[in-house]
Amino acid sequence: MTEKIIHQKHVTENFITHIIDEDLASKKHKNIVTRFPPEPNGYLHIGHAKSICLNFGIAADYQGTCHLRFDDTNPEKESKEYAEAIQRDIKWLGFDWQENKFHASDYFEQLYGFAEQLINKGLAYVDDQSAEDMRENRGDFNRPGINSPFRGRTADENLVLFKAMRAGEFADGAKVLRAKIDMQSGNINMRDPVIYRIRRLHHINTGDEWCIYPMYDFTHCLSDALEGITHSLCTLEFEDHRPLYDWVIDNVDIECHPQQIEFSRLNVSYTITSKRRLAQLVEQGNVDGWDDPRMSTISGLRRRGYPPAAIRDFVKQVGISKKNSVISMTILEDVIRNHLNQTSPRVMGVLHPLKVVIENYPDDQVEMLTGANHPQDESFGTREIPFSREIYVEQSDYKENANRKFFRLTEGREVRLRHAYYITCREAIKDATGNVIELRCTYDPESRGGTEDGRKVKGTIHWISAAHAEPVEVRLYDRLFNHPNPASMENFMDAVNPNSLEILPNAMLEPGIAAQEADVVYQFERNAYFKRDKTHEKDKPVFNQVVTMRDSWAKLEQQ
Ligand code: ATP
Ligand code: MG
Repeated sequence: MTEKIIHQKHVTENFITHIIDEDLASKKHKNIVTRFPPEPNGYLHIGHAKSICLNFGIAADYQGTCHLRFDDTNPEKESKEYAEAIQRDIKWLGFDWQENKFHASDYFEQLYGFAEQLINKGLAYVDDQSAEDMRENRGDFNRPGINSPFRGRTADENLVLFKAMRAGEFADGAKVLRAKIDMQSGNINMRDPVIYRIRRLHHINTGDEWCIYPMYDFTHCLSDALEGITHSLCTLEFEDHRPLYDWVIDNVDIECHPQQIEFSRLNVSYTITSKRRLAQLVEQGNVDGWDDPRMSTISGLRRRGYPPAAIRDFVKQVGISKKNSVISMTILEDVIRNHLNQTSPRVMGVLHPLKVVIENYPDDQVEMLTGANHPQDESFGTREIPFSREIYVEQSDYKENANRKFFRLTEGREVRLRHAYYITCREAIKDATGNVIELRCTYDPESRGGTEDGRKVKGTIHWISAAHAEPVEVRLYDRLFNHPNPASMENFMDAVNPNSLEILPNAMLEPGIAAQEADVVYQFERNAYFKRDKTHEKDKPVFNQVVTMRDSWAKLEQQ
């Protein structure tokens, strides 16, 4: 029998892959080259994951190349820390640019040359108008622009002035270089856009070499062309910039003309996908840094415990289109949950411990019981779990005066301890204020692994031997925003959920788990999925809740 190997594509068929298929069929291109062009002005977020999976995924599917290019033309907000975080996050997501790491700033000299070409052709001029005048004369959707009084400068005059701009002879903002296109254009981007400005700023790559910096619209298309990019994939807000993208390339001396294709941004409900806004949360202290597990940054999701394969799967499910939409958080969490259900070893963790004394169990005895690490997958193996006279159970697994439908602990009722014996609750001990602080129970020594008489016990609860339990801090997370689309609000900070973090300082975990590799996500049976955090609280390991066992969002989003 021959076995057919099905090669899983990274990117499901969509209008972009159709264009690429045609370009390959018509021999317009032999090799596909894409790029992911982040600006190093913040950490990447879940929205960027879509662009990364698309660009690197298409390159992989077509045996092409994907470049990582830092779009570093705005030194004010850019930093090495951000550039490093971006690389870490792309690699963690499972992609590799290999030797193809570039910076827009690598091309500053060439870009300067292209600007001079435009000047020589009479297609660019130095403008001395103030920023306010320039804005005013640009017009708007209803009002055509007005030509600058400096628009008529000769090429020679412009060349001298542009050189002087570069040489630092003018103050910041005193002059700009503008493309000379059409001040009456219906597309405002074509109304003589600024292509160079004077800014005395230290650049993370070029230091103090330059005091003029090229603008995004001039830089991006030419960087694409210089790198031989075949398909320049960007988000929909650049659709109106495409005529400018093409104009610049058409009017300078360069062979390659990449095709810009736009697709819709990924937005996820109850989150923010904007570096600028995420930065605000960090700066104002609403979260514990860019990698706070509540953040929709890739670093936050990693720290939280989202598997990279699950993020890739999610992005694939969402697909590529031109329709803007907000994807429900439920969909993202379902994908995470499905992954973790298959990949997470099971352990027992008690979040709100209540002590149980098993009165008829020998005082000094410790038994090692065997528990399966995964109920459906034997390859996960088994582990030994210590059992003794005193154990912890979950406070919510006891109820005073419970009705018949409560299948857990109440006076006189029998339950099964997971992987262990049946116990019957005899008495609840209360403190002076009436809080239950301990349960007295008895166990059936014959009940290990089920009883002979086959009596049915409906409830099974998790537990931990008190003498062996490892104290841990558990952090539960709720949504970071109270509003499904915080970006649509006048001030998204008003939607920050003040109760998005709940700390459980006294949780208890099976022994031996906290010392395991930090990368493993565990299912604390009957509770949720958890991953160990990078921090330790007063020598206690900290565990972050990755996702709940069942969907707690669906109801919320229907409201
Ligand atoms: P932000 O507003 O968060 O800063 P950006 O678009 O300015 O986003 P860049 O660093 O310029 O951030 O983005 C790099 C690439 O990622 C661009 O090609 C951009 O189109 C893409 N991208 C950014 N946000 C999203 C998103 N939400 N969904 C899909 N792609 C995105
Ligand atoms: Mg940007």
